[in-house]
Amino acid sequence: MTHDIYLDANATSPVLPAAIAAAADAMGACYGNPSSGHATGLRAKALLDGVRERARRMIGAGAGSVIFTSGATEGIQTAVLSALCAVRERQAAGETVGDLLLYGATEHKAVPEALAHWNRLLGTGLTLRALPVDGEGRHKLDVLRQLAPRAAMVCTMAANNETGTISDLAAIEKALLVTASNAYWMVDSVQALGKLPLALESTRIDYAPFSGHKLYAPKGIGMLYVRDGAPYTALMAGGGQESGQRSGTENMAGIAALGAVLAALETGDTFRTPAQLHACRERLVASLREALPGIVFNTPLHASLPTTVNFSVEGLSGRDLLDVFDAAGMRVSAGSACSAAKAAPSYVLEAMELPDWRSASAVRLSFGPAVDDAFIDAACERIAHCGRAMHTGGLVPHALRREVREDVIRLGLDGATTWLVLDEASRSCVVIDPIGALGERIASMIRSGDYRVRGIIGTSTCGDQPPVRAALGALLAEQIDFTGSADPFGWPAGSDRVSLDDGTRTDGIALGGQVIARVPHGGDTSQSYLMGANSDGALHAADVRFAFTGATPAELLHDAVQRMTALLNGDTVVCPSLDSANLVCTTPTAGARPVPPLDSMELQPAELDRFLRERPDAILVDVRDPWEHEAGRPMIQGRTAFNVPLSRLPSQLAQWLGGVESRPLVFICRLGTRSQRAAQCLHRAGYTQAWHLGGGLALHFSNRKTGLSHP
Ligand code: PLP
Repeated sequence: MTHDIYLDANATSPVLPAAIAAAADAMGACYGNPSSGHATGLRAKALLDGVRERARRMIGAGAGSVIFTSGATEGIQTAVLSALCAVRERQAAGETVGDLLLYGATEHKAVPEALAHWNRLLGTGLTLRALPVDGEGRHKLDVLRQLAPRAAMVCTMAANNETGTISDLAAIEKALLVTASNAYWMVDSVQALGKLPLALESTRIDYAPFSGHKLYAPKGIGMLYVRDGAPYTALMAGGGQESGQRSGTENMAGIAALGAVLAALETGDTFRTPAQLHACRERLVASLREALPGIVFNTPLHASLPTTVNFSVEGLSGRDLLDVFDAAGMRVSAGSACSAAKAAPSYVLEAMELPDWRSASAVRLSFGPAVDDAFIDAACERIAHCGRAMHTGGLVPHALRREVREDVIRLGLDGATTWLVLDEASRSCVVIDPIGALGERIASMIRSGDYRVRGIIGTSTCGDQPPVRAALGALLAEQIDFTGSADPFGWPAGSDRVSLDDGTRTDGIALGGQVIARVPHGGDTSQSYLMGANSDGALHAADVRFAFTGATPAELLHDAVQRMTALLNGDTVVCPSLDSANLVCTTPTAGARPVPPLDSMELQPAELDRFLRERPDAILVDVRDPWEHEAGRPMIQGRTAFNVPLSRLPSQLAQWLGGVESRPLVFICRLGTRSQRAAQCLHRAGYTQAWHLGGGLALHFSNRKTGLSHP
């Protein structure tokens, strides 16, 4: 059993034990309402005042005020509302106010969203303008100097949450001063607290929001610094708490907890110094460099918070990296919003004008200043483990030479599928329906496995298929082992002839002892391919293991299969190239069989143990990618899972369907999505002994310890 390594502190941090104790005390012994005049209330009031005083000292608030909020998002709203109400009053009084709301292009979304929201609601009619940043993520000061005279409000964060880039606030202040800008200035200081020195009163900053949960306090507590004399409009009116500046009974548990964190910051006994944090990060960076050849850091380390690293690895998607880290029990974050198949590029890295691949595949590691050496040791060890898993699992391109037992590999992206047919004995392969975006990956798999390419063919002549096939051909020029032809499906010239069971003779590509035969569909825009053992120039229906067809949706797939019915057997695995129905693969008889309801094949985490006890012959099948499996091999009740990623499921299905016994299979994956597809796929194919773990490993091992083995 291994503990999680939590490296996502910029998203949120664990709560400091002293903060938990302080919150418990504020809910226990010191439960009073600070507005009550009796002794119980007065004790709570003393606590509240004490925390506020400490907060003022820690951020150097001077004569400015500190208002407790629910978090930074509320602080940002309050600051923007306050500034825009003042702008509106000045507009009404006929004063010159700027026409721009200027915000750093890499600000947290809360900032531009709040600006747009309040600008609309208050009818201030200003124009939002993003202030560009340079390649290091720092604001472009020349643009600021140019626009500052037109700005009614300027918002520039102290440090960026994705990249850790530290803004040059002194230079921004200077730009505002030299241009005699009268803009209100907000500095989102969320990521600065505890990591950078703050002396707000000595600056021109009008508003500075903070958030407790980014520095070991709980979620739901934050504070807003307001410069003495800066305009203020309360966001919430009511009982007049916080001197009428923020009504509502105070979140005393949160305030007490934040107070404990600030006390730790003040006494200096809990948090590491910047120099120590830099040393910690250097060790992580060294491990990353070692584990991930080709790594590039997206922010220069000297210009970023010592607790943040943002990087990309050429050839690896952020999703793949995240999956490996997560499988190893290491919680990191994509520098960008990720969906299962595709990463949306990070707007922060895009604003820095980094190459597309870097902004689409960035990963962020961040830790808090209470880090200790034992944690960094463990993190470095885990990073090294992930690096090894990526090599063994075949994710790192130059290490792909591995034993490939399977002969059909499925590579999917957004509902489209490429089929890679490999014959290990002859080390030859055929690519069917390559996807443009996967070209590099397909090419590196083939190159590193040292396969000769006997054909790059398509099931369709439509769309971008012909140019994509040609581009892959160019990437694989050294491996190509066929003569191109003018055939619109990419079929190689001079291929063999093979006879099929309906008496027809067709073209075939020999792959060792197997053959891929083409089956025209009558029209001239689509065709299917059959694959199986070559019996003296014939491919018999009983030997057809795979049928590749481009036709979906389901009815069309069924039609295509019907037309070939005399050429297939009941266990032929049908592989669609367009898989909008998420079938993965199917069989000719699948349509005729009722598919059981989804919950009947789902095992809840609590049921799994009983199921495994009652079915000792059950096999656990991990359908995650091999590098995820290698990073954390799931072991449940002493049983190690056997790895069949979805890319290899069709190949494995052919073996399961052809096997003599059908043992119960329990599919598992990270979140329960891939495992559900696998279980459904098996049921459709008539293999009814298939279940999956609902909610995935993430829920099964939700008790902070993982059941993963990290060799
Ligand atoms: N600003 C920055 C820089 C942040 O990192 C965050 C948190 O993600 C916020 C604002 C919003 O903070 P809160 O969650 O306290 O509303």
